[in-house]
Amino acid sequence: MEKEKLFEVKDLRISATNDDGEEVPIVKGVSFDIHKGEVVALIGESGSGKTTISLATLAYTKPGLHFAGGECQLFGKDVLTMPPLAQRELRGGNVAYLAQSAAATFNPAITINEQVTEAAVLHGRLSQQEANERAIELYHALELPDADRIGHRYPHQVSGGQLQRLMAAMALCGKPDLMVLDEPTTALDVTTQIEVLKASTKVIREENSAAVYVTHDLAVVAQVADHIVVLYSGEIMEQGSADQIINHPTHAYTKRLMEAVRPKPEAGQGVELTHEHHRDIDNIEVKGMTAGYGGIVDGEPVIPILKDINVSVKNGHVVGVIGESGCGKSTLARVMAGMLPPARGDIILDGKKLEGDLHDRKLEELQKVQFVFQMADTALNPKQLIGNIIGRPLEFYHGLKGKEKHAKVAEILEMVELPAAFANRYPMELSGGQKQRINMARSLAANPEVMLCDEVTSALDSIVGANVIKLLTALRDKTGVSFVFISHDLSTVASFADEIVVLYAGRVVEQGPTDEVLEPPFHPYTRLLISSVPELRIGWLEDTMKKREMAVGIARGVEITAKGCPFYNRCPLAIEATCELKTPPTLELEKGHQISCHLTLEQLQEAEAEAQKILLGYEKLGQEDPQVHVP
Ligand code: SF4
Repeated sequence: MEKEKLFEVKDLRISATNDDGEEVPIVKGVSFDIHKGEVVALIGESGSGKTTISLATLAYTKPGLHFAGGECQLFGKDVLTMPPLAQRELRGGNVAYLAQSAAATFNPAITINEQVTEAAVLHGRLSQQEANERAIELYHALELPDADRIGHRYPHQVSGGQLQRLMAAMALCGKPDLMVLDEPTTALDVTTQIEVLKASTKVIREENSAAVYVTHDLAVVAQVADHIVVLYSGEIMEQGSADQIINHPTHAYTKRLMEAVRPKPEAGQGVELTHEHHRDIDNIEVKGMTAGYGGIVDGEPVIPILKDINVSVKNGHVVGVIGESGCGKSTLARVMAGMLPPARGDIILDGKKLEGDLHDRKLEELQKVQFVFQMADTALNPKQLIGNIIGRPLEFYHGLKGKEKHAKVAEILEMVELPAAFANRYPMELSGGQKQRINMARSLAANPEVMLCDEVTSALDSIVGANVIKLLTALRDKTGVSFVFISHDLSTVASFADEIVVLYAGRVVEQGPTDEVLEPPFHPYTRLLISSVPELRIGWLEDTMKKREMAVGIARGVEITAKGCPFYNRCPLAIEATCELKTPPTLELEKGHQISCHLTLEQLQEAEAEAQKILLGYEKLGQEDPQVHVP
């Protein structure tokens, strides 16, 4: 049966006007339909026009752009030519927008509930009481912790992943006809990403509304979209059903996008070193470290984050630190850098103990350990020329001045594969990927031994992100610098790291060489992370939700527990009266591979074999559910 048409984009044209008053086309005649109950994905790299087109459904253009032709019809009415008052009703009423950054969407001074229900009440779609009830329903559907009361909190009192789900609740609250999802999961952990997608699309389908999904991530699209529109430079390259585009792409550009999809993490992807640095000497080590925030009382942090951490990074190695948000990854890097002195434990650089506070460290020690921040946008001073940004550490650590400094800046720019002329530009003149290269160049200028990279690729699209990883690999080869590479994206870490450290609720639950960590036996949490990496396969999401890791609940808030195993409340293999009470012992496996768990090696191997059997059974049963046994 033909579905009812809800929205029609007809020959849409959007232009900008340049400084000479000339018209520059940005969106060049785009047409597609959205039917009720359907999710239409707009995919393409940054600059493809996907966000600009999605905003047109709200009759809105970014500053500096204007509609140059075509129509956007909601139930047959062109929203672009509606009177301004009707357009205001449309925005947040008929069409709801779910933005990329939850932190920027919420007002920090107003409670979550007031903000989630505001648009629904303001547009007269629900009464305050109905909106409150609907909000709580959505909090449950989105598996938010303490769903009945979370709405009373302020935005800073919940984690980033939770805030993203609360933003989905905000958009869904007024039961809009159309939802615009603008990369709403890009910055999320894989487990949280799945939950947000599952819950949002379920509500959309159940309520027979529709959604426009804007993303660069094809693996995610394969799980949620009915129809896919592939865009490049403001034009449609191809469009068709999800099956058609994912399984039988015809356009060369779509095929290229497919290749940049994050690969399933596999062992054996680590890159061999070609430089001649001694690889087996510890570069930086963290021993028995406990750290947190809010000060230290009786040797314990007031708000504990990390507990009894032992990690070592060998010369020229890449150590990937993986885990969900709130598990302490960034805190670990901050402690290593001396930004957060630990309550207990030692940080050792080249065999010598470092002071916990960076202010007490020697200049030479500061120079050797450099931090690369996540958001290049906020890490670079917009008022400084690139040449000054890179020049400052050259002057500070190495005393370079004048011509010498100038030449070194050019050399470093070349190392990050940017032209020397960039020294005369400001950060705002660069793309996201270029800014991230400058962010790295600034750390490289110190000539460090260790670079601490905190989620440096998470804000970049997959093609640009893959290029940054290639660059880091080349830099490691060329300079022998060691990397601590923090990421919530297991595929990225697997493609690049020699060793992996898996953190959960502030403790190391598994660590070892990449090959070993990505091969069974797995710690139950590592197993969950591996099963949560989206595959470029339609139906992957449904299949995954049926596996038992998922059946026991994913993406619940990470709780930092004082005793027992931190993964206890989510672990499908937990042993009652043991795991919640006693700290798990460390299983020492081959090649330095360690797993912290109360299960024996044999029990972990059995669990893995059983998980595989269930999967096989499921494949044989086709659409029927396997008998999932959840202990
Ligand atoms: Fe699961 Fe217990 Fe092992 Fe923790 S110690 S991962 S709860 S089996």
